[in-house]
Amino acid sequence: MVTQKIPESVIKLQAWGNIATPMMATYTHLSNDQMDDVLLETAGVKQVGRPKGPSMKPVQCPDCSIVNVPGAQFCYKCGRSLTGESLTKMERMKRDVYENPDELIAFLQELKKERENKR
Ligand SMILES: [Zn+2]
Repeated sequence: MVTQKIPESVIKLQAWGNIATPMMATYTHLSNDQMDDVLLETAGVKQVGRPKGPSMKPVQCPDCSIVNVPGAQFCYKCGRSLTGESLTKMERMKRDVYENPDELIAFLQELKKERENKR
């Protein structure tokens, strides 16, 4: 939460229910990389290449609109995959055909022509 720039007061209330808690000073430690990121970003220098941590945003299912927990790869209600990476081969093919059916039709017609020419 700290590296996602969530205000300290929000983190204290969320984690300990007390804005005056000393727990944050005890348990929060930023790594050198995290401090570098903050300083470079403040100076207007864009960081390239270092992978970000997993998103803390809830994921809404595009099919059934249920809101899933952050980082969910599949919808807990309907089972649809929520990330492009977790699409199965069949789901990717279905999506590609759905988005561009004319391409598949043209391919099938070409294949049919090719077969007829061989006879
Ligand atoms: Zn769903």
